[in-house]
Amino acid sequence: MTTGTKATETKAFEADVSRLLHMMVHSVYSDKDVFLRELISNAADACEKLRFEAVSHPELLADDPKPRISISADPDSKEIIVEDNGIGMSRDDMTEALGTIARSGTRAFIERVGAGNASEDTQLIGQFGVGFYSAFMVATRVDVISRLAGSDEAWRWSSDGKGSYEIAPAPLEAAPRRGTRVVLHLMDDAVSYTGSYRLEQLAKSQSGHVPVPITLVEKPGAEARDIADGTALWVRPKSEIKPEEYTDFYRSLAGQYDEPAATIHFRAEGRQEYSVLAFVPGSRPFDLFDQDRKGRIKLYVRRVFITDDADLLPRYLRFMRGLVDSADLPLNVSREMIQESPLLAAIRKGLTNRVLGDLSKLAENEPEAYAKIWENFGVVLKEGLYEDHERREQLLKLARFHSTASGEGWRGLADYASAMKEGQKAIFFMAGDDRARLEASPQLEGFKARGIEVLLLTDPVDSFWTSMAPEFDGKPFKSVTQGVAELSDIPLLDEAKRPDTAATPEVDGFLAFVKAALGEAVSDVKPSDRLTESAVCLVAPEHGPDRQFERLLNAAGRLDKTAKPILEINPRHERVRALASLGDDEQAFKDDAAHLLYDEARVLDGDKPADARAFSERLARLIARGISKA
Ligand code: ADP
Ligand code: MG
Repeated sequence: MTTGTKATETKAFEADVSRLLHMMVHSVYSDKDVFLRELISNAADACEKLRFEAVSHPELLADDPKPRISISADPDSKEIIVEDNGIGMSRDDMTEALGTIARSGTRAFIERVGAGNASEDTQLIGQFGVGFYSAFMVATRVDVISRLAGSDEAWRWSSDGKGSYEIAPAPLEAAPRRGTRVVLHLMDDAVSYTGSYRLEQLAKSQSGHVPVPITLVEKPGAEARDIADGTALWVRPKSEIKPEEYTDFYRSLAGQYDEPAATIHFRAEGRQEYSVLAFVPGSRPFDLFDQDRKGRIKLYVRRVFITDDADLLPRYLRFMRGLVDSADLPLNVSREMIQESPLLAAIRKGLTNRVLGDLSKLAENEPEAYAKIWENFGVVLKEGLYEDHERREQLLKLARFHSTASGEGWRGLADYASAMKEGQKAIFFMAGDDRARLEASPQLEGFKARGIEVLLLTDPVDSFWTSMAPEFDGKPFKSVTQGVAELSDIPLLDEAKRPDTAATPEVDGFLAFVKAALGEAVSDVKPSDRLTESAVCLVAPEHGPDRQFERLLNAAGRLDKTAKPILEINPRHERVRALASLGDDEQAFKDDAAHLLYDEARVLDGDKPADARAFSERLARLIARGISKA
């Protein structure tokens, strides 16, 4: 036949797929074994999707109700086949699922790997669920023959992974009665995968705990052997489960290749009955910073997979991987019901408390293991400080920071609070993009001189949660780039170094002069107790955003007018005192100096001079004056 969609068609892969395939085929990645796990995982997903559809359309199961995955090998024809009796794919499903890339994380992956160096590549491929396309690491050609459940046609997709694929109708007698058959035509150096022992070991170790039974046919004509029984790991008692079994399950569930950093397995009884098996990944999953911030906890009802879209944890715990299996929900629960079910709201609450509780225990008992988790996911957890009022105190206890006292390690707020100085009323922080620059900021000088610890916050989210006036242990957070520093009551570490040079009338006069010279550029000019070494710095007014938050809001176009900063001048600084002592005949020079002091403060903040042209003219005059005096 030659009409329309019934003919063989050749289609080009979407550009991203081509790039991904190119990377797969030319991958220096040594661990090609993962292809099998990926194909089994897809087969299991397909069986679970069918189970879900069959709740409302039982006829889809026909006379073949038991899900199954079968792996068969043929060393002579160099083939491995992975077949399932799951949901199957229509022609459109095939073009969509096997010719394009649906997930936004995948694109980010390709971009990073494309730009990165080889050693990072291998690690990244290892972390990323490369999915179906990983078949091309071992196969010169892949055929996918599939029949959608309930459909009376079958389709054959075929590709050598080099830019295009073919799609054609498949005769029903050469297709699975329902589901999908993936045929790998192996590369010569991958033929050893057909060894039955190797296949069995691989399948068992990688996928022994998928919730669908797996059989193996070692060679054509051999009998099918069961190699995995499809029991759900999470219904077994904890005491009987070995750590390797958890790891294996985590890897196939989460698409991660690492060890989980923490495992949470429990059964809630009482008003609601549900089981939870969840993991904190050992490294950052690829979709962690996707725009949609979607969670990845799957919902099961009595061991039947329902959806991975049930929002079972708040977004700031989206790094968690795992599942909840409820005994109380109906199987035919609709998406709308899922959104509104009070049962699920209760599960969500219970699960959230449990995860945070377990993290707290870990922080207490195994601080080093916890520090690694914080290293990976702290930036996501901190979103909760902003979003989850109810649990803010608990999250603050979990939070770890770098500070002027932390060195390379992390500081908790309890440590901070117990190291507070006599007379210190607030938890001080400074927010910015870069720790090194923060540490060199003039605004920190007075704090350092007094041995006051300052938290150094470098994640954008820090500006958001600190702006909500949080308190820890009754102590407010205060930005060192905002308002009055209130430091004069706290003694200097080295009181002998305190210069006995309080502001003089001359200095006061100079400050007034600077204020007049700068006019509208600043809201005020004040003597500083924040500065000990530098001459000037800028701070934000007491109310409103601090300097860094204002910068972020501004960049996002979320401020219609920026608050004018306050210029703080160090009244004890030699240069300031010298300027202050100049006579009235030096008005022009003092005016240049006033503007240059302001620009100096801006540059120290990582900003540009206010007016580049005027700045360079002033600088030129200053240099000319220096030369004439030399
Ligand atoms: P993922 O499994 O993460 O979605 P994959 O690259 O592994 O990504 O698979 C892409 C898509 O191809 C799947 O989402 C699914 O729609 C489809 N697919 C792959 N294998 C099968 C299969 N055995 N049965 C049905 N659909 C499949
Ligand atoms: Mg997959």
